[in-house]
Amino acid sequence: MTFETIKLPTASVGNGAHIHLHRFGSKGGKKVYIQAGLHADEYPGLLVAQHLLRHLQQLDQQGAINAEIILVPFANPVGLRQRSFGHVIGRCDWHTGQNFNRNMAINADQVMTSLIGSFGDDLIENDQLMRTGLKNLVSQRSDDFEINSLHKILLSHSIDAHYVLDLHCDDVALPHIFYGVHQQRTGKALANALGFRICLEEDVTGTVAFDGTHTQPWVNVENRLGRKIFSQPCFAATLELRGKSDVSPELAEQDCLGILDFLTHEKLIDRVQAPQKPFELRQLGVDQVKMVKALMSGIVTYRSKLGDTLKAGAPFADVVLLDSPTAQSIPIMAPCNGVLFSITGHHFITKGDTIAMLATDEQQIKAGTQLAF
Ligand SMILES: [Zn+2]
Repeated sequence: MTFETIKLPTASVGNGAHIHLHRFGSKGGKKVYIQAGLHADEYPGLLVAQHLLRHLQQLDQQGAINAEIILVPFANPVGLRQRSFGHVIGRCDWHTGQNFNRNMAINADQVMTSLIGSFGDDLIENDQLMRTGLKNLVSQRSDDFEINSLHKILLSHSIDAHYVLDLHCDDVALPHIFYGVHQQRTGKALANALGFRICLEEDVTGTVAFDGTHTQPWVNVENRLGRKIFSQPCFAATLELRGKSDVSPELAEQDCLGILDFLTHEKLIDRVQAPQKPFELRQLGVDQVKMVKALMSGIVTYRSKLGDTLKAGAPFADVVLLDSPTAQSIPIMAPCNGVLFSITGHHFITKGDTIAMLATDEQQIKAGTQLAF
């Protein structure tokens, strides 16, 4: 077990920020990287990380960790200090306007130019070449602007991992996870361990977040060569730990144990696993999520609950207008059939805001489109 403090380059004169990094197990085998709070205003993961810290310390003392496990308990000190009139803003960088969870993808041309000629027929050797190559590319990244140096530091510890779990949350939502559609088996194992029913599968070819940054290069190389050349590409997932207000020791412990069950399932730790109750997963492409946008401004209230199956044309919410000469409430109809899994906690909404997300059976948006900005 080690505990490290890693300083970010000073963003301005007299300013400093750092991250902490806990390292468990030993190097040389599989590597797991878990971080919380890349969107600094999402707190459930920060608490889950502390529960993980306690359990992983115990497991390490028992010699029950079969991999190197890195835990970054707060991945975004830059966002955490973005307080505005008492509120942590934390989602986008104030200096550049950039979402902290976007725009860090490994340049595909650089991967092809620098690596594609070195792969042979040995899949395990190819894995090692890829991991070393990706680490080199990260080390060459620009670190102008604090957000870029933050990304560079995080990726320098994560890009060669076999498993990456990035802990986030939605606004008000059922728990759900994102992962690459090419990794359904592992994604399903993760969802089962966590007890999360909704799995959103991405093709990782378009804009990617932190998770897709780790899987996209592997997919790109195999697609370019037209054959399987890797043994164990990185599996990466974003865990949406319900909504921003779902912060409690009970939920944090439950999610922590779910993550440990997944690590046990993957033989990365030795631990007695609680028997899992079977339940039905809903695995769908991200492009099958229907985002319902507000067509007017006002106060939104919901008739339906998270988890309800909505019928096309049936009212599930209302917008109460604030600027009408007479009191007026407009019912909002479900645009299609689907399971309501995310709503807004900002009851005052303006035209264009997303007020609901439905898990549906049909394609709703172009593949590769991101659900949130
Ligand atoms: Zn987030």
